[in-house]
Formats: sequence, C-alpha cells, structure tokens
Amino acid sequence: MPSETSACEFDIAILGGGPVGCALALLLARLSPRPERIVMLQSDAASRYGHTPEMDPRVLAVNHGSRVLLESLGAWPERCADIRTIHVSQRGRLGRTLIKHTDFAVPQLGCVVRYGALIEQLTRAVQASGVSVRHGASAEIRHQDARGVQLSQGQDILQSAIVVQADGGSPTEIRRTYQQMALLTRVRASLPRTGWAFERFTREGPLAILPHPEATDQQSIVWCCAPERAEHLHTLNAADFSLALTQAFGGRLGSLKVQEKVSLFPLALSVRAAPVNGRVIAIGNAAQTLHPVAGQGLNLGLRDAASLAIALRDWLPVTNQEPSAALEQFVHMRQPDRQLTTHLTDLMSRVFTSGWPIIEHSAGLALLAMDLIPALRAPLARHLLQGLRL
Ligand SMILES: Cc1cc2nc3c(=O)[nH]c(=O)nc-3n(C[C@H](O)[C@H](O)[C@H](O)COP(=O)(O)OP(=O)(O)OC[C@H]3O[C@@H](n4cnc5c(N)ncnc54)[C@H](O)[C@@H]3O)c2cc1C
Repeated sequence: MPSETSACEFDIAILGGGPVGCALALLLARLSPRPERIVMLQSDAASRYGHTPEMDPRVLAVNHGSRVLLESLGAWPERCADIRTIHVSQRGRLGRTLIKHTDFAVPQLGCVVRYGALIEQLTRAVQASGVSVRHGASAEIRHQDARGVQLSQGQDILQSAIVVQADGGSPTEIRRTYQQMALLTRVRASLPRTGWAFERFTREGPLAILPHPEATDQQSIVWCCAPERAEHLHTLNAADFSLALTQAFGGRLGSLKVQEKVSLFPLALSVRAAPVNGRVIAIGNAAQTLHPVAGQGLNLGLRDAASLAIALRDWLPVTNQEPSAALEQFVHMRQPDRQLTTHLTDLMSRVFTSGWPIIEHSAGLALLAMDLIPALRAPLARHLLQGLRL
C-alpha cells in the first residue's frame, strides 16, 4: 500500500519547454484533475543550438507515430513537407534500398518540420492547456527526499512531488564521441524529387537530404563528417561548399546549390542508464542524446513523454501518495524501445565508417538484400517510422 506524503506546491514540475517537455505537459493536462498543479519551467537562456527556437537551424523528420501524437495535441505546425520515399545508399559501394509509403499503406512515411515552428505550436497549446508556465532563469534541482523535490528558478524556490527533466541536457553516463560533426544547411537541387528523402552513408559519416518544410523548392542537409573535414568545409565559400556537397552526394539530384549559412554541430551519444532517480525522471534528450542518423531523437523523446503520461495516469488523482510504482512501470515500459533505438542509430552511424572493407561491403550487401527482399526491409522501416508499439 503506497504511503501518503504531505502536500507539495506542485504535483509535477517539468524542467525544460522543448518539444518533449511541452508534449508531456499537454498529455498530463488532459489526465490531471488539477492541471494548474503541473508546472513547466522554461529557461530564457540561449539553447545549445540557437539563441531562440526561431533561430535554431534544425529541421526534424517526424515519423508517422509522432505526427499522430502531435496532431492529437493540437500542436502540428502549419508548414511541413511530406516524405513519401526514402532512398538509402552507400557511397562508393554496392547496395541501396528504397522504402515507399505504399509498402506500408500510409499516405506518407513521415514529415519534415522546422524545430522553431514546432516549438511555436507546442508552446501556444501549453499556454491554453491550464498547465502553469514559468519563464525565467535556468531551473535547478536542489535536493529530494521522501516527500518531494525542491527546485530553484532564479530567486524562487519551488516544491514538487516529482520532477521531470526534459531540459535536453546530455546525460553523461554512457558516452561515445563520434569523431563526427554535423553541417546543416539548405540547398536547391537542379533535379529535385518531390517527397524524397535520402540517407547516404559515406566513409566519414551519413549525409541526409530532406525536403524542406518552408522552402518547397529546396532541401535540408545534415552532412556528418570527421571534425577536421567539417571544420574545413565550414570555412568554404558557398560555391566551393556546394561543389564538395554535390561530389559527396553524387548526381541523383543534379547539382546542389547552398541557399543559407552553414551551421556546425558536434555529435556524441550519451545515455542515462537509469532514467529514474527517486522522484526525478529524465525524458527526451535529457535521457538519451543520439546521433541524428535516421532522425530518431525527437521521435524517441515523444514516446518517452507518452509512456510517462500513461504510467502516471492513476497517480495523478492521488498525488499525496508516493509514485514509485508508477515510475517503475515507466522504466519497464521504456527499456526495450530506448535500447533498440539507441543501438540501431549508434550502429548505423558507425558501420559504414569502420575503415574495414569487409564490414562496409557486408553492410552494402545488407542494403541490397533489404531492397530485394521486402520482408527484411519491413521490420527496420516499421521501427524507424513508428517506433515500438506500446
Ligand atoms: C543536427 C540535428 C538533427 C536532428 N534531426 C532530427 C530528426 O530529423 N528527427 C528527430 O526525431 N530528431 C532529430 N534530432 C534530435 C532532436 O532535435 C532532439 O531529440 C529533440 O530536440 C529533443 O527534444 P527535448 O525537448 O528533449 O530537448 P531540447 O530540444 O534540447 O529542448 C530542451 C529545452 O529545455 C530548455 N532548458 C535547458 N536547460 C534548462 C533548465 N535548466 N531550466 C529550464 N529550461 C531549460 C532549453 O532551453 C530547451 O528549450 C536532431 C538533432 C540534431 C542536433
């Protein structure tokens, strides 16, 4: 029988108002009898990727499952680009696979949205949800005991029964530095293919080309390569960068011409082995920060948020009782999906850069086999498109 604890100011404090924190706030607002006792704390400080979400250069490939969730929360951005075909290939070796929306009888395999546009919709929905929102200094967890967790935001001290870390901070427990950096930009292709996304594996790292959500005649680039080469490419003028990119990608889209400033991001894998520590739970990038290959980070984070809301459903009307059973259920629910997606993206980011011809050739053959045998292609594609079903 769970023991009762004395009342806290808040039932749940969500630290961080990125896409995962906002999605959780919206899900909980629907389940809680007192949504005002859920507080989302958003830092006004510059984020790692841009001074404001509006300035963040990321575009995100959102899978079918995530789109359904975001639409149900009333937070789907107006402008998005459909992905109907995904072309996966390996530079300089045999093997490619095509994944089409018709293989899965869905109107599209996924969509591309701009990070800033998604945050704008989510923030607006949270403001209207009844959840308390506090903007200000970065929030910090001070300590926790059997009754709850104490936090601070600037001069203010808050007490909450549980705290969800959705601050995007890289967990440091299991960490791999990829020796890769990502170059992000927008290009115009001379032979565009509407609705196609490309993932091309090169010896230096994966190169993704996605339809752009807001410039419909343009494509978004996420080009991962060794840090020295990335830093060199970053110094090139637009014409030279365009040429290097076209050479790395090959001729499938004709020539690629850069349309905006190129941004540079370091890449690492960090995973928190246990996402729950007492009354503090980590979700989204705060629980696992993945390589961007195959665009899985946000999709996985949204599944964290959905599972946590389900696990807390029965606790929300009785928040004076201790939450450990609900949190154990959350850990149990999330473990297979977290492990599989983390290992899959880690493997994909490294297998073609091993420098071992036999491994790279085998990986190329695997791509070819997947193309020829739909039964091999389906499980991988289904996981990447929809994630593990709960
Ligand atoms: C180059 C690149 C491409 C990517 N492409 C894809 C893709 O195609 N598909 C995909 O699914 N994923 C992709 N990702 C991953 C995706 O961007 C992240 O997984 C996702 O943004 C994580 O969301 P989050 O809410 O957990 O964290 P964040 O987006 O980092 O948001 C955290 C928020 O918390 C705030 N915050 C931080 N600290 C505090 C604090 N102490 N107090 C209060 N607030 C705080 C921050 O300001 C921020 O607003 C990509 C990532 C990169 C780098």
